[in-house]
Amino acid sequence: MLKSHSCGELRKEHAGIKVTLAGWVDRRRDHGALIFIDLRDREGIVQVVFNPEITKECHQIASEMRNEYVVKVSGEVALRPPGTENPNLPTGDIEVIVHNTEILNPSKTPPFYINDETEVDENLRLRYRYLDLRRRRMKENLLLRHRVTKFIRDFMDARGFIDVETPILIKSTPEGARDYLVPSRLHPGKFYALPQSPQQLKQLLMVAGLEKYYQIARCFRDEDTRADRQPEFTQLDLEMSYVTEEDILNLIEELFTSMMETVKPELRVKKPFPRLSYTDAMARYGTDKPDLRFGLEIRDLSDIIAQSEFSVFRSAIAEGGVVKGICAPGCGSYTRGQLDELNKLVLNLGAGGLVTVSLGALTGSLSDLTIEMVKSVAAKFLTLDQIKQMAGCSGAKGGDLLLIIAGKEKLVDRVLGELRQEMGHRLELADPDLFVFAFVQDFPLLRWDEEAGRWDSEHHLFTAPWDEDVPLLDSSPEKVRGRHYDVVCNGYEIGGGSIRIHTVELQRKVFGLLGYSDEEMDARFGHMLEAFEYGAPPHGGIALGLDRIVMLLAGEETIREVIAFPKTQGAIDLTFDAPSPVTEEQLAELHLRLREEE
Ligand code: ASP
Repeated sequence: MLKSHSCGELRKEHAGIKVTLAGWVDRRRDHGALIFIDLRDREGIVQVVFNPEITKECHQIASEMRNEYVVKVSGEVALRPPGTENPNLPTGDIEVIVHNTEILNPSKTPPFYINDETEVDENLRLRYRYLDLRRRRMKENLLLRHRVTKFIRDFMDARGFIDVETPILIKSTPEGARDYLVPSRLHPGKFYALPQSPQQLKQLLMVAGLEKYYQIARCFRDEDTRADRQPEFTQLDLEMSYVTEEDILNLIEELFTSMMETVKPELRVKKPFPRLSYTDAMARYGTDKPDLRFGLEIRDLSDIIAQSEFSVFRSAIAEGGVVKGICAPGCGSYTRGQLDELNKLVLNLGAGGLVTVSLGALTGSLSDLTIEMVKSVAAKFLTLDQIKQMAGCSGAKGGDLLLIIAGKEKLVDRVLGELRQEMGHRLELADPDLFVFAFVQDFPLLRWDEEAGRWDSEHHLFTAPWDEDVPLLDSSPEKVRGRHYDVVCNGYEIGGGSIRIHTVELQRKVFGLLGYSDEEMDARFGHMLEAFEYGAPPHGGIALGLDRIVMLLAGEETIREVIAFPKTQGAIDLTFDAPSPVTEEQLAELHLRLREEE
């Protein structure tokens, strides 16, 4: 190699040895006589010194070096003069006294500084991603991702899973998003679809007798640009034959526990992983992906104030709605301004408004509460007993604040769920070093799609209903529970899967409920239905979002920070400028003509 050592590995014990290094000029300091360069490579930074008294020629070359020049230096590792050590740098005890140097390639002035301190506009970072990735933080993220995938491969291999690649050019694999389509040149008018996930392929691998399959698989979903999504993303996808929910969940619990111990031993994991039903999650946290690092649970106050004089509460309940609230500990002295801000937040989320009840002046137990201590617009319409009951039900004490919302249950749950998250964040209740993974189960199999006026799958159309609920498929589909499970962590959904349907009769029945005619079933899923007729074993699996997992482990806020070449929120690759137009010839070959946009 052009170098004998890496910049970042040199320490005191290397003093006295000769080294050859190559890397980028991170910074140059010209002190007239001496020139210092911080030389950077993948492993870190080391200070190199050009002394004209040792070599005039090298000193001259160094004076021409600029940031991001690629240079090679040879010299001797020396202890830094006492008092000039840099304790912030792992190599800070030493420096390299240069005897020979060469500029391997100059660089234009980069559009931003390659360091972790400078805030750079994300679009500029993505436009010059190859420079952005030179930054330490980004390199560490990619390294972490590598460690995670390496861990996964070893873990799966040790448990008898076989890594099988599945095609990227395939037919529609519906997972609830729009497909990316690829026109066929050889078959005019026909298209491949990129897989939204390898769902059907992995099920076919079970029919094929693989028994335990996994893949670190790329998935493609043409979704609207909302939330933190990418058009293509990566899943740890797996499937097993002859299993129940327990087998899959135990495997995943073991996977995450040992993954964290291996790649992030400094973080804590709550064990065993809590399990909760979908209904419970919605009722207590207002979401099916709760952050369980803190409590602030939602309480139903409807029974307590159903008969109250307060019209906001009374009419919500009279119209079939609910009144629910959470208790924000220690927030009883919130100012008007702070309360207005919370009110604005819930209005933005679609609620009619927020009712706050402050127990600011109470110091003793709830039984000492007087109406004078309570601050709330609702106070004069409620009895002291009602307020005490609400406070008791929410676990409130003196100095606390009740945040209450009235309206339709779905809306109230969702808004309080968001408000809970916001308060947890404001009150710093979510310990960033704690990871609470949990399993959410017992989802309904189907959800009514208002717009389309038909049933849709809560998970996907291959998920099995609970055995005992199968008879309900005809009479009351809304009551049928699916054998579906989600994995959540610190407020994010990080995966989901299910035990699958494996008989053709049941699969046809579910397709039928979802509105497919027999002809449509055969045209779209004929291969699955046919395969199920050749001895399909019972099977189930799960897929975990690798990007999101690495994001959480890295403590990053978006998955773009843990993907080497991500697309923008608007689905554009700024480095390549993709998507981009193609030539008339290319279109003609593909038998395509562009339509004028209306
Ligand atoms: N294919 C599903 C998904 O991508 C996961 C699964 O059911 O295994 O969400």
